[in-house]
Amino acid sequence: MRSKGDPEQARQLNIALILDLLKHQQTSSRAQLAKKLNLSKMTVSAIVSDLIDDGIISEIGEGDVASNGGRKPILLHLSKQNMYVIGIDVGRTNIAVAIAGLSGDVLHKARTSTCADHSVESVLAQLKDIVESIITLSKIERSKIIGIGFSIGGLIDKNRGYIDVSPDFEWSDIPMRARLEEMFHIPVVIDNCTRVMALGELWHGSATGVKNLFYVSVGFGIGSAIVMNNSIYENYSEFGHVYITRKNVRCDCGMTGCLEAVASGKAIEREANANLVAFGDPGHWITGKEIHQSAQEGNEAALTVLCNAGRYLGRALSMVANLFHPEKIIIGGGVTNAGKFFYEPLKKEFLTHTMAALRDSIDLEISLLGDDAGMLGAVSLALDTYVFRSKLITG
Ligand SMILES: [Zn+2]
Repeated sequence: MRSKGDPEQARQLNIALILDLLKHQQTSSRAQLAKKLNLSKMTVSAIVSDLIDDGIISEIGEGDVASNGGRKPILLHLSKQNMYVIGIDVGRTNIAVAIAGLSGDVLHKARTSTCADHSVESVLAQLKDIVESIITLSKIERSKIIGIGFSIGGLIDKNRGYIDVSPDFEWSDIPMRARLEEMFHIPVVIDNCTRVMALGELWHGSATGVKNLFYVSVGFGIGSAIVMNNSIYENYSEFGHVYITRKNVRCDCGMTGCLEAVASGKAIEREANANLVAFGDPGHWITGKEIHQSAQEGNEAALTVLCNAGRYLGRALSMVANLFHPEKIIIGGGVTNAGKFFYEPLKKEFLTHTMAALRDSIDLEISLLGDDAGMLGAVSLALDTYVFRSKLITG
């Protein structure tokens, strides 16, 4: 066994290691698991037998004959038809819901506009409709849905299951977990959307197998999450509020010179709208999409606004690189839709200020998950809580 000390604790760790390997490898035999994890065949066989009894993994037939000519090994995989989870992502403009299997494969998904009044009761009514319809559509027995992951912006108390503060919805002190469990009769776990998106990158995105990750979401605001040793760092990080410029720009947090005040979607729009003439004075509030469009047409003002925002973010990310040296930095959120106009100056500034010794060992990337990042993250949150991490706690 890898762990010494408490045998039960060691067993739980071994269960988590086996599940994690099957998550990444799709199929594996008992002997392959034992070899990869440096565990005895007996240990692996006993754990596999328990996991088969629990319906978490199953045998799917024989693999190729071993090189020594022995018996054909029986291949194992995460059970496809025994357990499912639901992921819910509630954003200020859209709600996205998915139902997925144990390996995170999405079977059905649905998306709708968030109700305009943003009240708790209206949002809950929307969730009831969309979740019930997706369950019906999937034809999956309700008893096989083992958990729901719920993602929303703001300060979330994951342990109590409360939304402490949601600035987007102007909610405070909402017992969201209890409300959802009462509504669906399925266990619910809730967390902050940026942390959930980072988890989604570990499961579905380009960070599978990455141990240390910094994730930043640049949308209307700027959110951040840290992954250390394969786990989300529980304390909140407030990367959007690092001091980045002497410019006297006020941030919503009350301070001046914050990253969010110069590099977020909100800041980009504010800058552009302060210079309406350069955009042909369209007579309405210029949106991020229009700024991107203008940049594509070669509008200097649009190019400058996006370039400045990208440079500020690149500079701030170089501090993360020098301080934390993660293997990967992933940038998600709607502002990344501005593509090269935002990303190229960002990368240039990042490389300029990151120590040469670290530069080559850090991948800086734009998220590939797009609008599905929150929803896929919520699926991952449910799987992590009710299958993978729960095995660490309950054995
Ligand atoms: Zn701030």
